[in-house]
Amino acid sequence: MDILLMGPPGAGKGTQGALLAEARGMPKFATGDLLRDAVKRGTPLGLQAKELMEAGHLVSDDLILGIVREELSKPAAGKGVIFDGVVRTIPQAEGVERLLAEQGRSMSAVLFFDVSDDEILARLAKRREIESRADDDPQAVAIRLKAYRKQTAPVLDWYEDRKLVHHIPAVGSVSEIAEKVSRVLGK
Ligand code: AMP
Repeated sequence: MDILLMGPPGAGKGTQGALLAEARGMPKFATGDLLRDAVKRGTPLGLQAKELMEAGHLVSDDLILGIVREELSKPAAGKGVIFDGVVRTIPQAEGVERLLAEQGRSMSAVLFFDVSDDEILARLAKRREIESRADDDPQAVAIRLKAYRKQTAPVLDWYEDRKLVHHIPAVGSVSEIAEKVSRVLGK
């Protein structure tokens, strides 16, 4: 089963993805985490992504699809992956569909974490104090939200057309939201 987690920055994809991965014994794959690690280690991938990421812009579709291809070739990913924030543009949605199809797979469900703009801004300000991520500063947050609305929101419609989307109101405690997720996915 391949599951995609979608939602604006700060919607809780990372937190819920980690819980879901543990509960289902599935690998979670977050391009943001992988890229941040590459930036920290100064690898060629990190050097390519650093400036765009820190300013809050999306990195290129080719780069993301290359990373997804590599992830899907790992034995641990053979039975399904929880994709966290991976598909952020229509070309990425098409590319991931192609890569899964090469393995006789397709996306099983898309969970959209629904949260208000005010709540997002409050959560990102809080996260900035704790994690000091460069892209949580107010200017980068504004750019990230703009990228989300322009490039990622249409992806939701792409998956809606394929009847894959489940809306999860991402308010309440972490465990309340996790409960909603497991109810939507079933056993
Ligand atoms: P995230 O941790 O998912 O919010 O990602 C942090 C940053 O990494 C984003 O603002 C982008 O610069 C980059 N990034 C992560 N995933 C993607 C993706 N699927 N497409 C393009 N850029 C991405």
